Amino acid sequence: MSVQSVFPRLETLLPKVQKPIQYVGGELNSTIKDWDAHPVRWALMYPDAYEVGLPNQGIQILYEILNERPDALAERTYAVWPDLEALMRENDVPQFTVDAHRPVKAFDVLGVSFATELGYTNLLTALDLAQIPLNAKDRTEDHPIVLAGGHAAFNPEPIADFIDAAVLGDGEEAVNEMTDVIRDWKAEGRPGGRDEVLLRLARTEAVYVPRFYDVDYLPDGRIQRVVPNRADVPFRIRKRTTMDLDAWPYPKQPLVPLAETVHERASVEIFRGCTRGCRFCQAGMITRPVRERSITGIGEMVDASLKATGFQEVGLLSLSSADHSEIAEVTKDLADRYEGTSTSLSLPSTRVDAFNIDLANELSRNGRRSGLTFAPEGGSERLRRVINKMVSKDDLIRTVTAAYSAGWTQVKLYFMCGLPTETDEDVLEIAEMAHDVIRAGRQAAGRKDIRCTVSIGGFVPKPHTPFQWAAQEDPDVVDDRLRKLRQAINADRGLGKAIGYRYHDGKPSLIEGLLSRGDRRVGQVIRKVWEEGGRFDGWHEHFSYERWIDAAKSELEPLGVSLSWFTTREREELEVLPWDHLDSGLDKEWLWDDWQDALDSVEQDDCRWTPCFDCGVCPTMDTEIQIGPTGKRLLPLTVVNS
Ligand code: SF4
Repeated sequence: MSVQSVFPRLETLLPKVQKPIQYVGGELNSTIKDWDAHPVRWALMYPDAYEVGLPNQGIQILYEILNERPDALAERTYAVWPDLEALMRENDVPQFTVDAHRPVKAFDVLGVSFATELGYTNLLTALDLAQIPLNAKDRTEDHPIVLAGGHAAFNPEPIADFIDAAVLGDGEEAVNEMTDVIRDWKAEGRPGGRDEVLLRLARTEAVYVPRFYDVDYLPDGRIQRVVPNRADVPFRIRKRTTMDLDAWPYPKQPLVPLAETVHERASVEIFRGCTRGCRFCQAGMITRPVRERSITGIGEMVDASLKATGFQEVGLLSLSSADHSEIAEVTKDLADRYEGTSTSLSLPSTRVDAFNIDLANELSRNGRRSGLTFAPEGGSERLRRVINKMVSKDDLIRTVTAAYSAGWTQVKLYFMCGLPTETDEDVLEIAEMAHDVIRAGRQAAGRKDIRCTVSIGGFVPKPHTPFQWAAQEDPDVVDDRLRKLRQAINADRGLGKAIGYRYHDGKPSLIEGLLSRGDRRVGQVIRKVWEEGGRFDGWHEHFSYERWIDAAKSELEPLGVSLSWFTTREREELEVLPWDHLDSGLDKEWLWDDWQDALDSVEQDDCRWTPCFDCGVCPTMDTEIQIGPTGKRLLPLTVVNS
């Protein structure tokens, strides 16, 4: 039966809310398909505002793959701001998709991609507005399967009560397999109801269905075990890995936003995975091994996305784009190809040691000379060995000096505070480093107006990393260190005035820590915070630390655990971690050894260029590192000047 658009009812509310354009849909390259002709219907959600969610590559990739299928359709939905939420409640307008404004409840699957755990309260808002029961156990066949994906899905235990399933790793192939399962189940007349379709999904071994697993606890609050409660589901759920990126050149037709968004450019993912081994970096650990897109594949995608969108900037995306084995050829050939046009290129993430100034010059040849960002992450050499970020101060000074000499006037340096073993002295070395950067820069550039910005984030220990056992630092200690750092930067007024200083207080990081390493007991905290008005917790102006503290107290303490038990407590080697049954491929013993190496300040090489050190991923996941150089060049294309 066809599903009615809610737009006529929504439209009357839009003049009363901020940025109504974000709810209207109809972007260039968006797709609306006939409801009745496509038996499997996905609503894809990014649980943040449109301006953050629209550029998300994961959603755009799945949206296109699904919409290319003759038997499926996909539409998008984003978190609505509190002003519209209130009006939707008053006027009984349900959570809707921005494409055809269909109610989310009518879809077969609500797939939610979590880049950060602070989006969990927005999931609850969307479910509630969609009139989908918050608890998975209360849902019937009339409700969509609520599926979590993205990096946070590697420990979905805190939202286990609210989701029906989670999928770990790359989505390209998994989304097709899941669609086949749902299509067949529906075509057979939905035998066995909701339980049966979830069971069929679980049997693919790529989908985790929390209701099929029980968690037992020890008297001291630690987990005793997580085991299947039925015989026909796997003990461990494996992550999915797309091995041939060239076979998946998505998005082919990127969406062009209607409203202002955080990124307004085409993006081409030039490789996936990272084996640098930075010990704090969950993204690097869970996306191993490295798989490069070929130079010709990159060239074709850049051309196709520019033609499909009219964007004038292309971002070459990955976790560390300067590490692509043919990055020099890629950037030079692209700069040649678009010479004389207004198309510019950018590498959103740049490592100090892989960076070379020729690369930066190529990137800015046709476009703006925007600021450069480098991420030494740790303030002292010792701390950088602990986190396995092998950047020396000399490397950094050499690189930024080259940048200032080549005409850049603005450099941003990114660090973390609260890292394992960190002391005040480690953090205060950041001030020294920033002073040296300005001194060297002034000398190299021969001018006084150069600037450097020191930007600091709070460290959060993440699952599936060597720091998963670490104690998170108390936010008061972090805040105190950051105050001292500000004083140290400004101690020399002449240098200090050339240095910008940006940091957030440590409190949101502590809550992110609770949600990252929490177990199923944390679900009630999320629900309580949401009931008390928690929304958009990733946004400084909406986040309330007190609300989280109060909810953690009321929901956790009766269970004999607490916020600090989940965050500032160091775990022992043999403790069962809430995510141990979710297989990222990383061998737990290897992770532990790497954690011990961190405590001894022992570095670990990158297996891209040195022999395999047996982290476990390649044999467990039946994958391998795929890097060039291939010796190929971009296909020469004729560019029509814009
Ligand atoms: S198994 Fe070996 S080659 Fe594969 S990612 Fe791990 S260390 Fe690298």
